[in-house]
Amino acid sequence: MAVDHTPDRMTQPPARTLPVHAPLEQFPVHAGELRVGGQPLSLLAERVGQTPFYAYDRQALRNRVASLRKALPPAIKLHYAMKANPMPAVVGFMAGLVDGIDVASGGELKVALDAGADPQEVSFAGPGKRVPELRQAVASRVLVNVESPREVVELQRISQELGLPARVAVRVNPDFELKGSGMKMGGGPKQFGVDVEQMPQLLADIGRAGLDFEGFHLFAGSQNLRPESICEAQQKSYELALRLAADAPAPIRFLNLGGGFGVPYFPGEQRLDLAPIGENLAQLLARAGTEMPQASFVIELGRYLVAEAGIYVTRIVDRKVSRGHVFLVTDGGLNHHLSASGNFGQVVRKNYPVTIGNRADAGPAETVSVVGPLCTPLDLLADRMALPPAQVGDLVVVYQSGAYGASASPQAFLGHAPCTEVLV
Ligand SMILES: *Cc1c(COP(=O)(O)O)cnc(C)c1O
Repeated sequence: MAVDHTPDRMTQPPARTLPVHAPLEQFPVHAGELRVGGQPLSLLAERVGQTPFYAYDRQALRNRVASLRKALPPAIKLHYAMKANPMPAVVGFMAGLVDGIDVASGGELKVALDAGADPQEVSFAGPGKRVPELRQAVASRVLVNVESPREVVELQRISQELGLPARVAVRVNPDFELKGSGMKMGGGPKQFGVDVEQMPQLLADIGRAGLDFEGFHLFAGSQNLRPESICEAQQKSYELALRLAADAPAPIRFLNLGGGFGVPYFPGEQRLDLAPIGENLAQLLARAGTEMPQASFVIELGRYLVAEAGIYVTRIVDRKVSRGHVFLVTDGGLNHHLSASGNFGQVVRKNYPVTIGNRADAGPAETVSVVGPLCTPLDLLADRMALPPAQVGDLVVVYQSGAYGASASPQAFLGHAPCTEVLV
């Protein structure tokens, strides 16, 4: 790195810049108001008719999928893992943008099919699939990502009863982890997938059961912002699938390399650089041309597709000063947005990006804490953050909230009203 030897720099104390949130450009600001779906936030709040609410922006979703497609080889199929945001309107909209939907319960399967997803491009993963869920999957001809020997036994019986061979892929618990992930979901002992060591036996069982074997599913982890780790996991997943193909009852037609693409939530985090991932996938596809000629490749993403296109909006109901510290008390918090409160798997609580949506051009003026209405100290949306000066009635906006929000929060906790959601 170049060293700056200009005298004035050398005489100044070293800059101690605090880490900041990655720039947020999805929602422009005009005349002080954040705009969502082209509308000023205050007007949108009137249209919604209540606070708190989540708003998801169609154009931001479109832009996200378009930029992702530009960065990845065209042959890669994009699947939306709908557990990130299962709002039916969002799933319906996403179904028109991506190539397939990944579901993780019978309930999600219903939403995906109602949304018009093509069953050929729907896959169903998750531990502990119950018999009624497996029957739903076989009857609707979606792909089941098998996660245990029991599922093979059940699927054989269901296939015979319904006269339809179940379409299956095997979710593999690999012998490696996705380094630097927020949540690790492969490697070591796991409830997800089938250990590599057990694969030869399971693949033989699938062949004997007469199931329609299509390929493999590998999902190493989530919320990763390190392209080199994602590339390494994809590389290893490909190699592993190639090894396992030797024992498979049919040629590999489907290879789901997982996802794990993260988004910047906290100060100091940067957006994921897709270029190396695109290059790595192009190399794998080139190899697959000879090594796995029938395989189509899938990447499954949840938060990466939807998180940045959504905000949570909650109104300030009280402004209190306690021993000199300002608390903005809002009409929703942890009960609607568990992850922004820091209680959804985070080890250390950090602030999501937050602003005052109807004074968004005012610039930071005071250091405050934003707390929800729940009678617990865990209900914290912003801890000592510099925000524009805010009053009762103003709208607090939590960015990066399009994933793991409403459906991932304990809405009944403490008996407050549930939030609502809009797609604009
Ligand atoms: C949760 C999950 C996803 C989505 O994870 P994101 O971090 O939201 O991208 C994808 N696939 C599987 C199997 C999952 O369990």
